Amino acid sequence: MIPYGRQNICEDDISAVVDVLRSDFLTQGPKVYQFEQAVSEYCGANYAVATNNATAALHIACLALDVSDEDFVWTSANSFVASANCARYCGAQVDFIDINKSTGNISIEALTEKLSLARQSDTLPKVVIPVHFAGQSCDMEALHKLSLVYGFSIIEDASHALGGQYKQKPIGSCRYSDICVFSFHPVKMITTAEGGMAITNSDVLDKKLRLYGNHGIVKESQALAPWFYEQHALGHNYRMPDLNAALGLNQLSKLNEWVEKRNQLANFYKHHLASLNIECLTIIEDCTSSYHLFVILLAKEKRLAAYQLLKSHGIATQVHYIPIVMQPDYQALGFSVEQLPTTQQYYEQCLTLPLYPDLTHEQQGNICSLLATLVND
Ligand SMILES: *Cc1c(COP(=O)(O)O)cnc(C)c1O
Repeated sequence: MIPYGRQNICEDDISAVVDVLRSDFLTQGPKVYQFEQAVSEYCGANYAVATNNATAALHIACLALDVSDEDFVWTSANSFVASANCARYCGAQVDFIDINKSTGNISIEALTEKLSLARQSDTLPKVVIPVHFAGQSCDMEALHKLSLVYGFSIIEDASHALGGQYKQKPIGSCRYSDICVFSFHPVKMITTAEGGMAITNSDVLDKKLRLYGNHGIVKESQALAPWFYEQHALGHNYRMPDLNAALGLNQLSKLNEWVEKRNQLANFYKHHLASLNIECLTIIEDCTSSYHLFVILLAKEKRLAAYQLLKSHGIATQVHYIPIVMQPDYQALGFSVEQLPTTQQYYEQCLTLPLYPDLTHEQQGNICSLLATLVND
């Protein structure tokens, strides 16, 4: 079976992990620190806090920005459930911004309208969480401008987007946000098995992220005795082990090559699908996508048939995403997808084709030929 995405593990990744197994520290050793340094340097940001997954990083990002049960947090419904759940862990009420169908990213027009209505009803969000869908940045400069007018903070859910660029800067530079979060789940750009990271340029936020990800414990107040530590807040154990960090560090050295390869494979798809009149997501000016996902938009009636046809030939596709508002747990909160007409339309048409560095043009050609038989009948 050709999967829609998969990790790339080489012998050097394996030895990096085995070296840690033979060392003194399986967790809280030097590799986590080195991995944090390497990612923050890659992004051109000041601080990075490694966590045991991106969901945990999103949670401590909300805590660091003081999200509580009095607050509203907005995100995109075209995302994985974690983008919204993180705010609910803090007791906040979540709401969703509609998207642009051609990118899958939040629509700045829809957001602008929603903000002006929220001002009238005194329900402005404390935090907005843009999701850089498929690896392409949202319009961060426009979002940042709105944040200055309406006074919200910004957490980028860049789980898809490590290695992508926005306005000539790496995603994760936090030029237009408070915190940026990456995921290192195996289908993402690089992997640590489970793992995530929160990036920031703020010294204050860095300290708070570390506090909430490590039981709320601080070790600086050691005046009393060298073994002393104090719990200053109710935190969590969200630490990344050294084993995982060693894998991530080694994977990071291959990231640029993989982004290039993914872009090259994406161009192959685009070229071949254009002749079939199959619509692909658009990359806007100022953006270089990491191409975590390659998404096409099919006629509504053809989507299931395409999924089944490819599957019968050993090719897995996927739908990114079932809108979060359609999940039973969100339906129970009163959400409905009709409130997000573009998200709904997009959902009915989208299909993610296989894309990962080891995919071959031959396999891609085969996928395109199968799609051709479908769209032509
Ligand atoms: C994968 C993903 C997450 C969660 O990442 P984990 O590391 O699995 O917790 C959050 N948001 C988005 C958009 C994702 O794709």
